[in-house]
Amino acid sequence: MKEVRTRFAPSPTGFMHLGGLRTALYNYLYAKKNGGKFILRIEDTDQERFVEGATEVIYDTLRGCGIAWDEGPDIGGPVGPYIQSERKKIYLPYAQQLVEKGAAYYCFCTKEELDERRAACEAKGEVFKYDKHCLHLSREEVQAKLDAGVPYVIRLNAPTTGESTYDDVVFGHLTFPNDTLDDMVLIKQDGMPTYNFANVIDDHLMGITHVMRGMEYLSSTPKYNLLYNAFGWEIPQYVHLTTVMRDAQHKLSKRHGDAYYSDFIEKGYLKEALINYLALVGWNPGDEREFFTMDELIQAFDINRLNNAPGIFDMDKLTWFNGEYIRKLPFDEYLKMVTPWFDKALGGKHFDYKRLAELMQGRTEVFNRVPDMVRFLAEMPEYDLDLYNNKKMKTNPEVALEALEMVQPVLEGITDWQESTIHDTVMAAIAASGKKNGAVLWPLRIALSGLASTPGGAFEIAYLLGRDETLARVQKAIEKLRANA
Ligand code: GLU
Repeated sequence: MKEVRTRFAPSPTGFMHLGGLRTALYNYLYAKKNGGKFILRIEDTDQERFVEGATEVIYDTLRGCGIAWDEGPDIGGPVGPYIQSERKKIYLPYAQQLVEKGAAYYCFCTKEELDERRAACEAKGEVFKYDKHCLHLSREEVQAKLDAGVPYVIRLNAPTTGESTYDDVVFGHLTFPNDTLDDMVLIKQDGMPTYNFANVIDDHLMGITHVMRGMEYLSSTPKYNLLYNAFGWEIPQYVHLTTVMRDAQHKLSKRHGDAYYSDFIEKGYLKEALINYLALVGWNPGDEREFFTMDELIQAFDINRLNNAPGIFDMDKLTWFNGEYIRKLPFDEYLKMVTPWFDKALGGKHFDYKRLAELMQGRTEVFNRVPDMVRFLAEMPEYDLDLYNNKKMKTNPEVALEALEMVQPVLEGITDWQESTIHDTVMAAIAASGKKNGAVLWPLRIALSGLASTPGGAFEIAYLLGRDETLARVQKAIEKLRANA
């Protein structure tokens, strides 16, 4: 069997869209699963859209995610160069071959002429399609214009009757009426190929066996097949992938901050969790498994299990995945990753980060939620006395005041401010007072944090805050409760 060769062919826009990342992932998985090669090709023929540093974004993202290419611009390979702008000279001779065969033709229509004809067409309520005006120029007329240096493009000579069909792995057997095909431009006035032309030439010259890409190319594919056929080249297997959507109606969008890989990394999602979840948006392993390492994905991946319904990218599900991945991080790694987020909220003040991290690891779903969860340590939030009402703990502001008055001198008496000492001393005092644990610990935690939910309980928080701050907060709470009584 022929070696499987897949490719990821991004345009360097400066951002990695999640849909693109998933395309790269599937191409990589399929190549690796079949012992084949995964090729990275940069499609930068649209020089107007050139963005500085954009190829690095592509390299860094893929590498960071563990998607390694076997051939590509930076590492080379047998069928390079792998950057389209460096392949510029390759395309024109192929287009000229097609002109010889009658499958393509020179077009000298100016932009103004085309605009005029387009406007006339639209005025009649019709959709403009190039009208083959220049197809009817004689050989001599064409040559004269070329000799005179008249700017030209080369267009595909697409059929206008009949239909085109092809088979797609995901979408099955597809039929398109030929009157929907236009005489697309193959070579632009600046001599650069269009994407529409370059992708075919490159995929052929690079020996690509499986073209896996976004479904926005479904309806252009018949035109690509016309090119393959005109050259007498073998048509690759097509695997068109459905769009990654936020919900049934909406695409992921820049405006919502959910379109790009970098959006997620900045929010504090782990790339492993993102890749794992992304693999499942549009594909399923056929069983109940949800957690996959890259190697496990390679083993499990099967293009016949790609969905033909849009993949819904469920943020909550991703967040859940992320929390699971964070829980499984080795503690030291978690500590390293969470430290800048602690700094953000606690900036400057000293706290025992290690202890805080121990309390936080199991509660961290996304790192950007960390600052809000720990900020109370640096600054006591305003809170409502209503927080002291807790049915289960049998507390209310009155009970709370009594509890805090009881516990205040106990805390004052502790000089060795260790968590275990605080725990043992306070627990002993509660037992001696005949009160219920909850009736003291709930008010104490509220007094120290102003929050109904915190990482750790009263003892952990008291320890983290330190003796002075703990006593100050208890004193303040007592004053607040007294003022209310
Ligand atoms: N450069 C195209 C894009 O970024 C690639 C499409 C393809 O994979 O052929 O959409």
